[in-house]
Amino acid sequence: MKNSLFNFTDAVQVLRDSARACRPGTEKVHLSKAAGRVIADEVRSHEFIPAHDNSAMDGFAVRSSDLKSGQNVLRIAERRIAGDMPGFCSEARVAVQIMTGAPMPGGAFDLILKVEEVEIIQEGTGVSSIRFDSRHASAGFVRKRGADFKPGDLLVSPGSVVDAKLILGLAALGVSEVPVFRRPKVAILSTGNELVPFDEPVLPEGMIRNSTSPYLMEMLSGLGCEVRNFGVIADEVKETPLDFDEALRTALAEEFDLILTTGAVSMGVHDFVKPSVEKNGGRVLFHRVAIRPGKPVLFAEFPDHPKTCLLGLPGNPISTVVGMDFFVLPYLRSWFGMEEPVIFRGKLLGAAPDVPAGLRGFLKARVTPGADGVFGVEILQGQGSFMIHSLSRANAWAVVPEAGGMKEGDIIEFQMFSERMDS
Ligand code: AMP
Ligand code: MG
Repeated sequence: MKNSLFNFTDAVQVLRDSARACRPGTEKVHLSKAAGRVIADEVRSHEFIPAHDNSAMDGFAVRSSDLKSGQNVLRIAERRIAGDMPGFCSEARVAVQIMTGAPMPGGAFDLILKVEEVEIIQEGTGVSSIRFDSRHASAGFVRKRGADFKPGDLLVSPGSVVDAKLILGLAALGVSEVPVFRRPKVAILSTGNELVPFDEPVLPEGMIRNSTSPYLMEMLSGLGCEVRNFGVIADEVKETPLDFDEALRTALAEEFDLILTTGAVSMGVHDFVKPSVEKNGGRVLFHRVAIRPGKPVLFAEFPDHPKTCLLGLPGNPISTVVGMDFFVLPYLRSWFGMEEPVIFRGKLLGAAPDVPAGLRGFLKARVTPGADGVFGVEILQGQGSFMIHSLSRANAWAVVPEAGGMKEGDIIEFQMFSERMDS
């Protein structure tokens, strides 16, 4: 059977090409609702920011043309605080007291003295002066108009995910309506007679808790998808269950962007996902990829529903998680026109990975920063595709190449766990 497996890199390419053909429409959302959405259009500044030269310090604005070397004394003519209107001070040989963020007074004021560097001399009632050494007066404490943004400067390009830091930038530029791609609509269809809901207090004999539906729901909603859970569909030996056909047809009619199924996609007696996909007009682009875990994964398009694709993930929990990180995420990223995140490399610590040659392995790993500045990649005990325990200690996938032959101390690729679209 091995030669019938699809190469992983080719499979991801097929999937990304398919997604790129279904690029989403765009919409504008209020800044307060934009977190987690993907930017669809360039956002540029239409202003100078800062709008005016202003002070970076609490202190005094002076003119370089007034200063002599060594000690100086200048009368304080006025005071400016942040929020004051920009304006001129035309008096000769004076200092203007100024607070951080206050506009520089017009009229050749070009230097700032920090308040710490001056001595304030009180002269009777109200009138005061400052005494200071001229070498403390600095143009570096003046924030120039447009130092941060000039009109036309780019803040963000399409494909970036809106997060709190980007919200700060958008808010600074006054972008209240943010151009984003619409959310992907994802349907989840689970299969398996053995599944009971996770909140079943006592596990009936022979049954297991459905752990992957809550995982997929959480993961996909966190990624900004609109998710509908079609529930668990019971297996029927030898035939395609009518319930599955019906759920699939509903998802197709409702134009979900991605239909995700779990289970029933390998070679068992009731692995009906492939026959059902084909019966309902689907064209399977790959089934069974040379990876471990997750080998049975299936990907299909529906020529009568050109906007919808289906990914059939195997039911074992770790296979589903691998399917999410290495198939669903690349699909969604390509749908949004995004690139794949960078792959890191580190030093393999401890035992060599146990993956048959010819398969790309995705192994639960713990990555730590090494004292020598090189990441250490420890492949954790408990790699079975049913084994959830080690997932809670893992923080990355160690990626074992098809060529195999990795041993302790070798450089190995890894991908940090992420629940973000862009990393
Ligand atoms: P399947 O891919 O349907 O052959 O399932 C493979 C294994 O994954 C079986 O041991 C199933 O019991 C288990 N499994 C299937 N679906 C789920 C699920 N939703 N949550 C947890 N385990 C599952
Ligand atoms: Mg099953």
